[in-house]
Amino acid sequence: MDLDKLRKTAAEVVAREDVRYLLGWKKGTFGYRIAPGFVEDAESAAELIFSPLCTANLATYLTLTEKPPLPRGQEPDDRKVAVMVKGCDSRAVTQLLIEKGIERESVVIIGCPCPGVVDHELLAEKYPETEETAELKWSDKGFLLLQNGEETEIARDELLAEKCRLCRYPNPVVSDIMVGEPVETWEPDDDQGVAEVEGKNAEVRWEYWQEQFSNCLRCYSCRNVCPLCYCEDCILDRLNPTWIYRSVNFSENTAFNLARAFHLAGRCIECGECERVCPANIPLGKLNRKLAREVREKYGFEPGVDPEAEPFQASYKPDDPEEFIL
Ligand code: SF4
Ligand code: SF4
Ligand code: SF4
Repeated sequence: MDLDKLRKTAAEVVAREDVRYLLGWKKGTFGYRIAPGFVEDAESAAELIFSPLCTANLATYLTLTEKPPLPRGQEPDDRKVAVMVKGCDSRAVTQLLIEKGIERESVVIIGCPCPGVVDHELLAEKYPETEETAELKWSDKGFLLLQNGEETEIARDELLAEKCRLCRYPNPVVSDIMVGEPVETWEPDDDQGVAEVEGKNAEVRWEYWQEQFSNCLRCYSCRNVCPLCYCEDCILDRLNPTWIYRSVNFSENTAFNLARAFHLAGRCIECGECERVCPANIPLGKLNRKLAREVREKYGFEPGVDPEAEPFQASYKPDDPEEFIL
């Protein structure tokens, strides 16, 4: 990726009168950390990066930033928000368009073809993080780590994130401006995580999830990071009626996790962010990808691919045989 081109494009976009700011990735202040950048001028556009460390899906901010009520007398700023997207992130934007969570004319989508990002946990485990900020680049072999004045070549397979091994859309599915040439797609791995769950009988499967959900802290990081968890009135926050109590115990945790999983069926675009941020290491990806596969195979629907598609959970066909109704 030509960073000069990326920064120049970003500077041109934020200079437009109809653009409010641009969401992109910037270097963090410690080790491998990357921070989301809200870019409003050319100076701050010069800090943007795109590298195998840019795991975060910035599409989440498209709905989050608009949520707080405005102070009395303040008019909403109707200018567009520009957002840099990898393939998976572009599917989140597309799904938001399908659901009318955002309007097409309210965003400028800057597509970044993506050769795959790293698993941050694995990276830190194999190449311990130091205070010094590090850089990671894509290279012929996979990745090139630049840290404390040293360069280390790392094979792609050693650090590639699980979501990228399974990725079917590394090139953005929707964009107004593309930065860089499309990457060559690769054959996705078989989903071992989902196969492992499917290989257990119902009883063992239930025990497995019981154990996982018992560890949930109800920190709601998974909900907050998810680009498709953006209901203004989430059932988890409702007190009257209280659908799910706030107590942290197996029963309420299960209700929370299953409600979230079902609300995301046919909507989750498999960006892996929920699992990445979960402090309890709950394998949320296995759950979401299992539901995504069911929707894909049984109903032929794949979320976040076609902006003109009907929203899966909100569409109805009068001639649906409804064989599942007894
Ligand atoms: S899932 Fe695909 S688009 Fe997303 S980071 Fe991985 S390779 Fe890139
Ligand atoms: S991020 Fe993990 S621990 Fe936190 S609420 Fe979600 S599943 Fe539970
Ligand atoms: S449920 Fe997880 S994987 Fe699916 S869109 Fe939300 S954050 Fe991404």
